[in-house]
Parts: sequence; structure tokens; C-alpha cells
Amino acid sequence: MPPQPDALVIGAGPAGLMAAEELAKAGVQTLVVEAKPTVARKFLMAGKSGLNVTKDEDWETFVSRYDCPHLRPILQDFGPKEVQDWCRALGQDVYTGSSGRVFPVAMKASPLLRAWLNRLTTQGVEIRTRWRWTGFDGKALTFDTPTGLQTLTPKATILALGGASWQRLGSDGAWVPWLREKGVQVTDWQPANMGFRVDWSPHMTPFFGQPVKGVALKVRLPNSATQRGATEGSEEHRGEFVISAKGLEGGGIYSIYKYLRDAYTLAVDLLPALSPQDITNRLAKMKPGDSATNKLRKLGLDRTQIALVMEVSRKDPFAQLKHLTIPLQGPRPLDEAISVAGGIAWDALTPDLELKALPGIFAAGEMLDWEAPTGGYLLTASWATGRWAGQAAARRITQPA
Ligand SMILES: Cc1cc2nc3c(=O)[nH]c(=O)nc-3n(C[C@H](O)[C@H](O)[C@H](O)COP(=O)(O)OP(=O)(O)OC[C@H]3O[C@@H](n4cnc5c(N)ncnc54)[C@H](O)[C@@H]3O)c2cc1C
Repeated sequence: MPPQPDALVIGAGPAGLMAAEELAKAGVQTLVVEAKPTVARKFLMAGKSGLNVTKDEDWETFVSRYDCPHLRPILQDFGPKEVQDWCRALGQDVYTGSSGRVFPVAMKASPLLRAWLNRLTTQGVEIRTRWRWTGFDGKALTFDTPTGLQTLTPKATILALGGASWQRLGSDGAWVPWLREKGVQVTDWQPANMGFRVDWSPHMTPFFGQPVKGVALKVRLPNSATQRGATEGSEEHRGEFVISAKGLEGGGIYSIYKYLRDAYTLAVDLLPALSPQDITNRLAKMKPGDSATNKLRKLGLDRTQIALVMEVSRKDPFAQLKHLTIPLQGPRPLDEAISVAGGIAWDALTPDLELKALPGIFAAGEMLDWEAPTGGYLLTASWATGRWAGQAAARRITQPA
């Protein structure tokens, strides 16, 4: 590789590697630089508890989960079907679970990443690790590298530096001021798919790590939210969550994090299959001398659910079984969130994902201002935007105006 590559990709996560693949396919000489000693650390972490590569559901439902019209054409080009085909072409078979989530048969990210890196090498993509982008020197891009300060002036650059959570895996958001100084609008970060803080009493300690299953989570929305397009006055999701030392986390919470982030109230229906009248009838048939705990157990609550009732509603344990209000203290910190909202504003981008203020520089992945639930949506959009930006950058180099 000569000192100045034609195309430079900064950040070797799913978005950056996908951009590099498209550039290489178009015959463009491509260098990927990565700050960390190894590539795609967040992707590998994502595979630790079962990698969701995409969601297999009808198109309108799928695209609505992003609530971002700008992503629609990009996902139309590379959506759930294309993600699955792409995995299979890398020799990684995938299957769809009962919830529609799509997993590699291997469940982990490492076999997919290995096959992908091999293919990128064959395509001529060069990857340099421990190269940290540090900003601009005029129009040149500057890097801290093992051999000292380097500057590059490629024909096209793709920024794919990720969001600003799980900083230890590489995405630290350090680039925000550098782009803002150049006139690029960047929206402030907010956590997405995150847990919430609850100040538990010592009574809850034995239940840390325990799941609360088969419940319905309800968020009561104020009128202002209903006016902003939310349905009726509340959102309800069946699911489960986990009680942690710091509060609540897990799938059920992540499915309603957007509403909870805006400080709305969370209530848990512990007996969604029973009506209030059913509960009253069942309690009336129990022995008057039974302890409250015994009655709750006979109603069908497990030990963790009973502990939660006693924590929140000890004075009248039966009053809130359909509506146990959990005293949330706010979201867990940004760095613990699975993903983020905020990043480069869509107004700052052309439809090609090129920065209007910095022609020749494109951006992709979680550093753009979109958010989505967990369950394969995040990777699909990171890959799709990487692909879109990579193709646009390749056009810029191979078909200059
Ligand atoms: C625990 C966990 C589980 C997850 N599970 C799933 C899942 O199952 N399904 C799903 O769809 N999504 C999942 N995600 C989200 C998914 O991993 C991310 O959305 C995705 O990795 C974002 O890709 P990206 O390329 O935009 O950014 P990243 O993956 O963050 O990659 C950005 C890269 O840029 C590098 N970089 C940053 N700054 C610099 C710099 N200054 N110079 C050079 N390089 C730099 C970073 O080191 C990093 O390698 C999970 C996330 C977490 C944390």
C-alpha cells in the first residue's frame, strides 16, 4: 500500500469493515485503520450471549422499529434478507428463532468475523491496528500510530467510529468536538437499550441476577407523549427483566427504554393472565390465617416476584399486583448502554451519507443519529449504512464529477 490510500476507512467495526468490502469490490485501494490492537471488539462482545444479526419480520414492522425515514432506502437495499444471504455467503449458516430474531448457527461472532477478515484480505483490503484518528490538520487527517504521528489525505474517507457506549471496546465519541469544529452538526448522546437505576433495600440482595418472567410492563404516557404520536395513554409489553444490584435490565426493559428514558412511570402487571376480579375471587377463597407470602405464592408468584411485591408494596401486598409501580431513579450511565441515540445529525449528511461540511468524508454505523431496539436491528443498520457509504465513496473515486 503506498503512503496515501485512495480510500480510508476509520474504525474496524461492522460499519467500517462493510464499507471497506464495498470499496474493495469496486476495485478501490482501501486502508482500514483501527485504534484498538484488534478489530471489531464490540461485534465480538455482541456475540457473547447469542449474536442477533437481524430480525426476520414483515418489512413495514422492521423499518418502523428505527423511527428514522432516512434509513428506509438504505435498509431497503440491505435489510434482513440481504443480511442473511451475506452471512451464508461467508459460510455462516443462520436460523430464525421463535421471536423472529436471526442468529448464526454458531451463535458467536468470531467465526463470522474470521471468515469476513479472510475475504477482505483476499480482496486486497489492508487493516492497520493501533492507529488512532486524532482529528484534522487542515484538510489532512492525523493519527497516533506505533511509529508516531501520521497524516493521511485520501481521496475519500469513511468515518465508522461507532457511538459512545462501552468505551473500553473502542467507541469513545472523542471525535464529536473535531467534527463540530468543522461545522458538522452532532446531536448530544443519550443511552439506548439501557438498564434503569433502582435503589433497592438490603432485602433485595439475594435476588440480584434473578429474572422476573411472564409479566407485562406498562408505561403510562403523559398527554404530551400521546400528542407526539404514541398510541393511547400507555404502552404495554409482555416480557421479562432481570433484577440487578443497580436496578433493572434485560429484554423487557429494553423494549420500552425510550419511554422510560423520558422519565415516565413503569408499572409491572405480575399476573397478566388474571383480571382484578379473578384475583379478588381467588384471595377470597384462601384461608384468612394464611400469611401474605403464602397467598402471593398461591396466586402463582415465584420467590423473586414476591420479593419485589414486598419491596415496593409491603403495607398492602395485594393492592398493586396488576400495577406494581417501580421507583426508577433514571437510566444507567451512557457507557453501560448497549447502544446510543444521538450522533451525526441527518441534516449534516447528503443522501449518500457524505458530510455536507466536509466533502469526500462519509459516515456510517452507530455514529449516525438513529436508534433501534436490540434484536438484530443495530447490526443490520450498521452494516447497511457502511455498505451505502462505501458504495458512494467508491463512486466518488471511480467516477469523479
Ligand atoms: C453487549 C452488547 C451486545 C450487543 N448485541 C447485539 C446483537 O446481538 N445484535 C445487534 O444487532 N447489535 C448488538 N449490539 C450492538 C452492535 O454491536 C453495535 O450496534 C455495532 O457494533 C455498531 O457498529 P459500528 O461499526 O457502528 O461501531 P463499533 O462496533 O463500535 O466500531 C467502531 C470502531 O471504531 C474504532 N474507533 C473508535 N474511535 C476511533 C479512532 N479515534 N481511531 C480509530 N478507530 C476508532 C473502535 O475501536 C471500533 O473498533 C450489541 C452491543 C453490545 C455492547
